[in-house]
Amino acid sequence: MVKAEGVHKSYGAVQVLKGIDLEVAPREVFCLIGPSGSGKSTFLRCINHLEQVNSGKLYVDGQLVGYRQSGNKLYELKDSEVARNRRDIGMVFQRFNLFPHMTALANVMEAPMQVKGETKAVARERALKLLDRVGLGDKAGNYPSQLSGGQQQRVAIARALAMEPKLMLFDEPTSALDPELVGDVLDVMRGLAEDGMTMIVVTHEMGFAREVGDSVVFMDQGVVVESGNPRDVLTNPQHERTKSFLSKVL
Ligand code: ATP
Ligand code: MG
Repeated sequence: MVKAEGVHKSYGAVQVLKGIDLEVAPREVFCLIGPSGSGKSTFLRCINHLEQVNSGKLYVDGQLVGYRQSGNKLYELKDSEVARNRRDIGMVFQRFNLFPHMTALANVMEAPMQVKGETKAVARERALKLLDRVGLGDKAGNYPSQLSGGQQQRVAIARALAMEPKLMLFDEPTSALDPELVGDVLDVMRGLAEDGMTMIVVTHEMGFAREVGDSVVFMDQGVVVESGNPRDVLTNPQHERTKSFLSKVL
């Protein structure tokens, strides 16, 4: 579903991604861990067309991200083409970014109506089902300010799912939450995983990575240091840098 080959990304003189190679299979739950500043968010932003890679290749569902290939030449995609490709990718951030002036229901209905031109009735029916799925069937009429952080994050997940994405990206979805609210959000993500959603999850929740993850990748300073089955990487890391990181977060 996602394939990175030698992906490099710099901001000015600062090299953030220094040749990332990895592959995420369809239906896989792929956890990305690593210290602050290692490039995890940047990598997700490249997948989601929020940043353009400088060199190397990044594919989502067999399609080169950001470029069109013709013979052996690459052309940058037009904005309209980028927008079309982004529709298939859902992203959930640490901060929930809901529209504050809209109810939970309206937040979830918005993108399918605006972007896909869906009718209100169709968008509403799906949004109600999705709110139910994230355990908020009774909160459809609440505004974000009338929801807890964990509830807002579950609305944000429902909002991303409303576009029926092929791939979901999560960037530390629980790290801004009070500890007692984390479990409900992780449960929703676990449910998504069970339903076969392909997910890339940047997280410090090692329990989630171990129980739900199919693979885990440890990134440090813009490179993949170690990757594999979560049980192996988290309980029996091979590299000093991985050991040192895990000793701080576990
Ligand atoms: P964290 O765990 O703190 O979220 P991260 O692994 O997600 O860290 P990134 O946000 O990808 O790290 O940042 C990697 C590096 O890139 C950092 O050194 C950061 O300062 C730099 N960086 C990120 N975005 C930009 C930008 N827009 N302009 C310049 N530098 C940036
Ligand atoms: Mg980050």
